[in-house]
Amino acid sequence: MAELKKIAILGSTGSIGTQALDVIRSNSNSFAVEVLTGNGNADLLIKQAIEFNPNSVVISDENKYQYVKNALTPYDIKVFAGNKAISEIVQMDSIDVVLAAIVGYAGLESTISAIKAGKQIALANKETLVVAGDLVTRLAKEKGVNLYPIDSEHSAIFQCLAGEFHNPIEKIYLTASGGPFRGKDTNFLRSVKKEQALKHPNWEMGAKITIDSASLMNKGLEVIEAKWLFGLKSEQIDVIVHPQSIIHSLVQFTDGSMKAQMGLPDMKLPIQYALGYPNRIKSDFTRFDFMNYPSLTFEPADVKTFRNLALAFESLNRGGNASCILNAANEVAVDAFLKDKIGFLQMSDVVENCLQKVDYIANPVYDDYVSTDCVTRIKALEFISNCKSQIV
Ligand code: NDP
Ligand code: MG
Repeated sequence: MAELKKIAILGSTGSIGTQALDVIRSNSNSFAVEVLTGNGNADLLIKQAIEFNPNSVVISDENKYQYVKNALTPYDIKVFAGNKAISEIVQMDSIDVVLAAIVGYAGLESTISAIKAGKQIALANKETLVVAGDLVTRLAKEKGVNLYPIDSEHSAIFQCLAGEFHNPIEKIYLTASGGPFRGKDTNFLRSVKKEQALKHPNWEMGAKITIDSASLMNKGLEVIEAKWLFGLKSEQIDVIVHPQSIIHSLVQFTDGSMKAQMGLPDMKLPIQYALGYPNRIKSDFTRFDFMNYPSLTFEPADVKTFRNLALAFESLNRGGNASCILNAANEVAVDAFLKDKIGFLQMSDVVENCLQKVDYIANPVYDDYVSTDCVTRIKALEFISNCKSQIV
């Protein structure tokens, strides 16, 4: 029997993390769990640890350490707390692959630490490449580490590139469902509530990415992620709205030929592809039936109404720390929207304001990203409290 691949799942209690565990549960002859981490959901982390028997678990919220420790005392599982512990534990010799599925900037440090230790990365946390794509991809190259994309669009491109690595890409098309507000105008969007924004038509995901999908910031972050993963210029990346979410993205080569990757929307497929690469593992995921989808449709993205996508392209073109600013401002804006502190359209105002106000750094090093993130969050919160009276 082949050796089991030992996986550390960072963010195992989230949407990607739990689906990764579904994949591992169904393929226990291929994978074993070495590390699990969660933040606030201690009960789920405990339950997962008891089922999968990892070497170690880390609870990021240090207040919950004793609770997790007590629950796991009868088991041979080490328990740690805090994000520093995650960054240390990913370096453990026994880990083969680190699945980075923490949401947001919080996932950056541990991913960098895993790359430094030479671990292969299955990358769900798109913010890592948005914030510090230049640094992260350079480091990965230096360490001989592969970044296997889990984001469905990037997995699609990666799958289309199999066997094509020497053929230059002319262009890629990232598909977008358009989210719950596709076709809506600014008048409508001004008054939408989080409950509406949290209802994605095709995917079930964590709250932050679901709001990003509704505002098209998710597609903007994915454009930046694609630039770094596939070494593209911004002119080579296009977005096309495809409401059925069956074609997960396309590559166009220099002879004009296009390759697309298709399937029903199910994140378990890209997760399994990333963990199993280069092998495709047999699965019982529901198969696509053409008769259920007699037409696949396409339309342009409305960047006038959904300004976030245009702001993401702008930050990509500016380079330096601009995408780090975009990301931090957006994280604060989404959090404020989820707490009913700002309206849906004001999320773009927060991002735009921070892109104008926060100092530009042309060639940032790691500490510059850390300080840019911090300064942007302060500016974004100031902006929100200054204009709160006008915008709620
Ligand atoms: P969730 O919100 O469902 O899960 C996030 C995970 O990160 C949870 O385990 C959570 O712990 C943990 N976490 C949250 N904040 C912190 C923190 N400050 N420090 C350490 N851990 C933390 O998110 P998703 O699973 O939806 O998304 C994860 C990443 O994958 C995101 O970057 C997203 O963009 C990307 N992605 C997700 C897709 C999806 O279908 N969900 C598709 C493509 C990409 P706890 O729950 O215990 O608090
Ligand atoms: Mg995606």
